[in-house]
Amino acid sequence: MKRPQRRLPVQRVKQAATYDVAEIARLLGNHRNTVRRWLKDGLQPIDDARPVLVRGAELKAFLTERQKARRQTCAPDEFFCFRCRAPRRAAAGMVDVCHRTDAIAALTGLCATCGTTIHRTVRRATLPALAKTYDLQTLAPERLNGCSVPSLNGDLKGR
Ligand SMILES: [Zn+2]
Repeated sequence: MKRPQRRLPVQRVKQAATYDVAEIARLLGNHRNTVRRWLKDGLQPIDDARPVLVRGAELKAFLTERQKARRQTCAPDEFFCFRCRAPRRAAAGMVDVCHRTDAIAALTGLCATCGTTIHRTVRRATLPALAKTYDLQTLAPERLNGCSVPSLNGDLKGR
């Protein structure tokens, strides 16, 4: 089922509660894989123990920042890092590029400040300018399956 980007019902999250991945998915009406992706993107669990538990206050802060980030304009060579909760440059100028469509490319790098994986979806027309700042590594076609990078600018991926 394809639907337009919707706002998450962040108000359902209780600050004082703790949630596991399945509970977060149920609460917000998301797939559990989406929640797992947030954990990779900087949503902080309480500790490293299994099952992963997240404090309501942390979840709320993460989602609020994420929705803000959609509207936030990073500089052309910046990515929004969800762990730093700020626009950051990619570490060592290295960025992986995955060509999603003729017009759109997904970029993946590591935050220069904290090392978290950072993503950005850009128009391919901007890549020559980015190549001046970053050493762009185009992913080989056989790796494209591992290239399901989340989009911050709305869901551009035809699912
Ligand atoms: Zn960071």
